[in-house]
Amino acid sequence: MRARFCLACGGRLVDAREGRHLRRRCRRCGWTFYDNPVPACAAVILRRHRVLLVLRARPPHAGTWDLPGGFLEAGEHPMVGLKRELREELGVGLGRARLTGVVVDRYGRGGFPVLAFVYRVTLAPGPIRPADDVADARWFPIQAIPLSRVGFPSIRRALRALARATATRS
Ligand SMILES: [Zn+2]
Repeated sequence: MRARFCLACGGRLVDAREGRHLRRRCRRCGWTFYDNPVPACAAVILRRHRVLLVLRARPPHAGTWDLPGGFLEAGEHPMVGLKRELREELGVGLGRARLTGVVVDRYGRGGFPVLAFVYRVTLAPGPIRPADDVADARWFPIQAIPLSRVGFPSIRRALRALARATATRS
């Protein structure tokens, strides 16, 4: 993905070297496209040695397993975004949440950069009702996560690390 036009004035963007980075800059008004990562949140939800994964209904990586979560709105704290996403995607409330890591990825091959806050989460009581951009939600034994069918490389790595950590502990 390569930005072509200025968001401020619609002028054409050209390559501009800035230290080690190659930016896209407007020839007309000087506005710069920094290509900063878009912040997101993801939930690791464990229950009786199983982890809850959602099947992505939409691109990128449609038809692959993923952690519940999504993009943050402007001005939204990651924890608030997490709570909103769990409500939207799974129809459940957030119990407790603890920040356990941060991952970086791309939104699909060649997509824009993403930075995701990963939380260990417990859910409020109540049934799970997959909705919106989720085709299915399923509990997988931590030692039997279908890693080859997890689309985002960063999430695959996080789940592999979780499986390893759990195997060593038990
Ligand atoms: Zn411009």
